[in-house]
Amino acid sequence: MAQGGHTTVIQRVLERRAQKPPTTEEGTTATVAVMVRVLPPPKALLAFQEAPLRGYMERRIRPDQLDFESVADESEALRRFTAEFRAVVLTDNPELIRKLRAQSAARAPYIVYVAEVDEAAERETGLAAGADASIGRRVSDREFDAQIGAARRIAELEAVLRITLAENRKLSATDDLTRVASRRFFGKHFPREVDRAGRYGRALSLILCDIDHFKRINDTLGHSAGDDILRQFGPRLQRGLRAGVDWVARIGGEEFAVVMPETAYEAALEVARKLRAGIAHTPFKVDKKGIDVTASFGLCGLDQVPARESHLAQRVLKIADAALYRSKNDGRNRVTATHLKTKS
Ligand code: GH3
Ligand code: MG
Ligand code: MG
Repeated sequence: MAQGGHTTVIQRVLERRAQKPPTTEEGTTATVAVMVRVLPPPKALLAFQEAPLRGYMERRIRPDQLDFESVADESEALRRFTAEFRAVVLTDNPELIRKLRAQSAARAPYIVYVAEVDEAAERETGLAAGADASIGRRVSDREFDAQIGAARRIAELEAVLRITLAENRKLSATDDLTRVASRRFFGKHFPREVDRAGRYGRALSLILCDIDHFKRINDTLGHSAGDDILRQFGPRLQRGLRAGVDWVARIGGEEFAVVMPETAYEAALEVARKLRAGIAHTPFKVDKKGIDVTASFGLCGLDQVPARESHLAQRVLKIADAALYRSKNDGRNRVTATHLKTKS
């Protein structure tokens, strides 16, 4: 749900930006301003134990300021908050504030404490409990709107920050889990490697590798054990390669590509065999236990990449993929190789 929401927000941001004529200064500030403008009002939770105060707050907050739900009960407030994150919480209950702050959630709400009596000591109680702001119940309209405005700005900035982080992750050149190159990086740079090899008539090989029965590993040991194995998998491939020349990318869930510039078919086949053995012969460590893992490999090797052959990168990828498929069909934990000989 949440992710779908962000996608729509980003789409709207992009649409708006497309319609907008380019400004002279298209800096970060402008981008954030646009993002904030198209965000819906932040979700808020009103939790007032006292009925008159609750009714008063409900009337006082406009729906275009905060998209709020209102509850009376502390446990109901906690239940709703756990079910769905609210960026802003307004309450007259210091105990609820303490409980919200004790939750070790990835996101923290902006909490406004509304004090029973407008006295410094009373307002301090809310701040000490963990509120970000504290106001007296008889606060003026101007101050109240200003406080809501501040809460809203913080909530919006937090939302924008999270969207931006998620976007950056997507655009990133490295894969978060395995720390090898990302699929995106592979898509951009593998064709460049092929072009480059073609320009100088050099060799180039591509190995694809897919962990065997990974679903079974997840199903029996749990998804986080699967993640642990993936985390170790990238570095283990890399260890068998030439540093700074060969590179590894995670191109699918449990599928990796190894790009080997300047490596002809025979040499690449030897590397693929070594990688396969390196995976199969040493168990992976999960919770201090050794787990046997195997992987299947598909190789496409060229001794001399022809110049200016269109879609060659795609073709090499397809051939390696077909070879990998053969390895799977023939019983897994093996290498299948194709020596691609092109006329030059
Ligand atoms: P095969 O030997 O034919 O490759 O079988 P498989 O089970 O490895 O292949 P399949 O494509 O059926 O399943 C791949 C599994 O990989 C399913 C998916 O849940 C899991 N997976 C994908 N990405 C991740 C991830 O990031 N972490 C974990 N733990 N599992 C993942
Ligand atoms: Mg697999
Ligand atoms: Mg797979």
